[in-house]
This record gives sequence, C-alpha cells and structure tokens, in this order.
Amino acid sequence: MDHVVTLNAGSSSLKFGLFATKAGEPCVICTGLVDRIGSAEAHISARLSGGETLFDEVSDSIRDHDIALDQVLTLLQQEFPEARIAAVGHRIVHGGPDNDRPVLLTPDSLRSLESLAPFAPLHQPYNLAGAYAAMKRFPDAAQVACFDTAFHRTQSWVNDTFALPGEYYDMGVRRYGFHGLSYDYIAGHLQQTAPDLHAGRVVVAHLGNGASMCAIKDGRSVGSTMGFSPLDGLPMGTRSGQIDPGVLLYLLEQKGMEAAEVSDLLYRKSGLLGLSGLSNDMRALEKAGTTEAGNAIAYFTYRIRREMGSLSAALGGLDALVFTGGIGENSALVRQQACEEMGWLGIDLNSDANQSNATTISSDMSRVQVMVIPTNEELVIARAALNVMS
Ligand code: ADP
Repeated sequence: MDHVVTLNAGSSSLKFGLFATKAGEPCVICTGLVDRIGSAEAHISARLSGGETLFDEVSDSIRDHDIALDQVLTLLQQEFPEARIAAVGHRIVHGGPDNDRPVLLTPDSLRSLESLAPFAPLHQPYNLAGAYAAMKRFPDAAQVACFDTAFHRTQSWVNDTFALPGEYYDMGVRRYGFHGLSYDYIAGHLQQTAPDLHAGRVVVAHLGNGASMCAIKDGRSVGSTMGFSPLDGLPMGTRSGQIDPGVLLYLLEQKGMEAAEVSDLLYRKSGLLGLSGLSNDMRALEKAGTTEAGNAIAYFTYRIRREMGSLSAALGGLDALVFTGGIGENSALVRQQACEEMGWLGIDLNSDANQSNATTISSDMSRVQVMVIPTNEELVIARAALNVMS
C-alpha cells in the first residue's frame, strides 16, 4: 500500500504526519512534532491516530533541521517498516503570485521557490530545507509543495494591492495572504457538512500562535487579514499584527534601530508576549489573571471584532463565523470576547455551547451561525500530495 509523509517545517519546529491510502483517500496513521530545534532541549513526540503516545523524548542532539528530519524519518521507518513512501507533501509558506494550487517539486520549481525566500525569510528557507532533505531520503517519492498563499489567489486586484506606484506591485509587493491550507480545510469541511453555508458568506478566524482571518464566499477567498508577510492583521503570540508603517520609520530613522532589531521586535517580541510581558501562550495568559495578561487578551479580541466587521463588509454580509486553530478551538473566553457586542452583525452566542467547545456555539436566535471546527492542515497536504502524484 502507498503511504504519504507530510512535513511542515517552521523556524524551530517540524510537524510531520504519516498517512496510509484507502480508496484514494489519505488515512492518518500518526502525527508528531519536533520543537525547539537547535536548543539543548529539543523535543520529539509522535502520537498514533487514536491518541496513544508512540514516542516522546527530549534530545540535545537535534542541532538543525537536517538532523530533525533525519530523526523523524528514521523513527517512521523503524515504527512502520512496511510503509512504502510514495509521496511527501510539504507545507511551503510562499508560492508567489502565480501558484494557485499544489505543484510537483522539481529542481526548477525548487529554484523558483528559493527566489521567493526574501518575501518570507523566517519561513521559506526552512520549508525548502525540508524538501531537499526529503528528496535525498526518498529519491523515488513524489515531492509535492502545498502553498499557504495558494488559497488566496482568487482575491481581486483591489484586495491584492497596496496604494503604491504600480512598479511595486509588479516587483511582488502585494498582499498574498497566508494560512491557506487551514482555510482550504475549513471550506472543504463546510462543503461536505453545511453546503448552504459553504455557498454563502463565511469569516474564518484561524487563531493559533500565528493568527489570521479570512473572508470566504462560495468557497473562495475574497479577503484576508495577513498581507505581504505573515506579520499583518491580528496580533499573534509574538508578532505585532497591524501596525502603522510610520512607527517603523520612527524606530529606524529617529531611534537608530537596525533593520534586524526591528524585525526581531515585530516577529519575536510583540503580540501577546509584548503586551503581557509574560507569555505568548494563551493558556498561560488566561491562568495568570494579571492586568497586563487581561489587557493582552482584550487587545487580541478587540482586533478580532474589528477585522470581523471589515471582512463582513468585503463579503457584503455574514452567514457564518468559524473559529479554528489552537486558541479558536479551545478558548471559550477568547470566542466569547470576540463575539461580544457583535449583535449588530447578527451574532448571538449560546454560552453553554461555547463553554463546551460545541460545533455550533451560536444561539437559536443568532442570524449568523457561529461554529468551532478543528483544522487539519496535514490532511489537506496529504490529499494534495496524492492528487498531484496521480
Ligand atoms: P501554531 O500556530 O503554532 O500551530 P496552535 O494552533 O497549536 O499554534 O495554537 C497554539 C495556541 O493555542 C497557544 O496560544 C495555546 O495556549 C492555545 N491553546 C491551546 N489549548 C488551549 C486552551 N485549552 N485554552 C486556551 N488556549 C489554548
């Protein structure tokens, strides 16, 4: 039987999955994570589809992504010696302006994706390192790139562009949007389970360490909060989200900060961590109960409400609001605050359903259906790898 491996490499983490194929559909066998790559406390863990722990170990020898990948692939080959890896699906953050679907990776397509690294310097090089390592390990397997930007390629020019002279658009300075694999999963899930909503106007809030929102009409992206980079829009664990570009000019020109310092500030020291002075982790903030932690959550949910209004305007109204991602799926507090005073848009939460993370958390009176749908980016990658392979 053919098997598919999925890889999702971040700057210090590597998520992976192993899928069997049944009747042409991927069927998960195990998923796992290597995090804190490069530190003395790198951690590698894997769980079977039923939730049983397969592996859980701290290691001081995972110095880089090559070693992490090598350990993951060795682990999978040891635990599942019968698996025949026919395809490896890679999450690639940036597909540029033209890639609107997954593609087979070849030496030529890899080179062209490398040229996009300056657009996503903190993500793209790691994604591609995973692809190179997997090619070496499984030279006969199809290597398939699945882009976070692809889902948004249906957006109109007014959504895509910044108000800069046209030559900047031509050089690639435009809004790309991210988290596309997650939005693709949610749109597909709605198509199967709630076709009326899928055909309507939906806002999806993907709230994790990275956070963004997307307006989807008839299953297609019409607007998103992330733009040129994964920095724009909502505040995140450590990223600032939307910020007046004048602030950056002030820091660079008046305060003498170096570009690298500003980048570090915006990507690693801001967001929930910067506001709370405590943690980037929503669970820790909810537990802390300090004024600063409360303020960080209040800012996060205020920006969600503002973006909800903006994306609903782009859609011409709202039929459904979907929460997903680690925070969206688990934090009743964030969902409750995000929906507070949104009655004008037709949103009314059922507080018991919200507390229990039910699938539908809106009341019977609510004009807008509010839902909690766990995302599954790995499944989208595995499906795409099988499709492209066949
Ligand atoms: P990533 O973007 O790294 O994939 P996740 O989607 O896993 O992130 O989301 C991580 C976030 O989800 C963290 O802020 C974590 O605190 C939050 N989270 C997970 N479980 C809960 C929970 N039960 N309550 C509140 N927040 C949670």
